[in-house]
Amino acid sequence: RRQALMIYKDKPSQTLDGHRVTLLANVGNLNEISHITDVGAQGIGLFRTEFLLMNAKALPDEQQQYKLYCDAVHSLEGNVLTIRTFDIGADKEIPCLTQDNEDNPALGIRGIRYSLTHPRTFITQVKAILRAASHGNIRLMFPMVSQVEELEAAFVLIEQAKAELIEQQKSFGSISYGIVVETPAAVLNLPSMLPHLDFISIGTNDLTQYTLAADRTNPNLAKEYPPLSPAVIQLITLTISHCKQTDVSVSLCGELGSDPQVLPLLIGLGLDELSINPTSFLDVKVALIKGNYQQYVEHAQHVASLTRIDDIAKAINAFAHDYD
Ligand code: PEP
Ligand code: MG
Repeated sequence: RRQALMIYKDKPSQTLDGHRVTLLANVGNLNEISHITDVGAQGIGLFRTEFLLMNAKALPDEQQQYKLYCDAVHSLEGNVLTIRTFDIGADKEIPCLTQDNEDNPALGIRGIRYSLTHPRTFITQVKAILRAASHGNIRLMFPMVSQVEELEAAFVLIEQAKAELIEQQKSFGSISYGIVVETPAAVLNLPSMLPHLDFISIGTNDLTQYTLAADRTNPNLAKEYPPLSPAVIQLITLTISHCKQTDVSVSLCGELGSDPQVLPLLIGLGLDELSINPTSFLDVKVALIKGNYQQYVEHAQHVASLTRIDDIAKAINAFAHDYD
């Protein structure tokens, strides 16, 4: 099947009626980067950097990280590399870092919260990324940001990182800044945060967990509390609308974007960029190019009007089958 899909690799990422969409890939380690060029992704929309820490005896230093980000950006040959700073918390056991035990790690010191309480770890990573940015097209993205104070604090540390690089006479490139929108508070606070940002990416895995108060790792909750539920769809819609009122570009990097059946909804809601699992990449691309944008918009309006999870699932399914 994968072989049969390869004929779509070099086709333009656009609907039958010519609506263009940027299709990027999610990557969780260096080896996966070669797969994404195999399937023709236009770059990386989410580079999860935690793999650097998982089995490390010591925190990789600035030079080690710099080399690695350079390798990644070089292998992309000019395409965008969106690096997410370490998204760590007490749910991930990382031997080389100090972490307090927490009763509710998902609600604890994770993502940007960890970075702001461990500024040296953050500054080291940011310095390595800024330096790698002089070799290619890099965007920097922060996980779990919910309010503008966190963003302001992060930018203070970024200024400090730049000052240190200047002091050390190390050159660095310019970078775009974004956040993963993955809490309901982040969605509601976008008007105060967007002036600080160049792009955002919707993280539907955590956005679903925090909106529905349903642990994303609990299999007993997966069916009744899916991302395709009315509250999550409303938050996605609101996010897109806030971004479209500004110049901030909006993408989606949660697993929802890797489901070809959901593609018409996401594009119809107004997303012009998705970041997809490499294994689903070509399936999603095929879903994009076989339909008309205008029909995706009508389908999305219909789905957004539904208030029941089962009706939403049926509508998504029926639309996908009409296209088969
Ligand atoms: C998300 O939360 O949707 C996301 C993309 O990040 P992760 O799955 O790594 O938390
Ligand atoms: Mg997340």
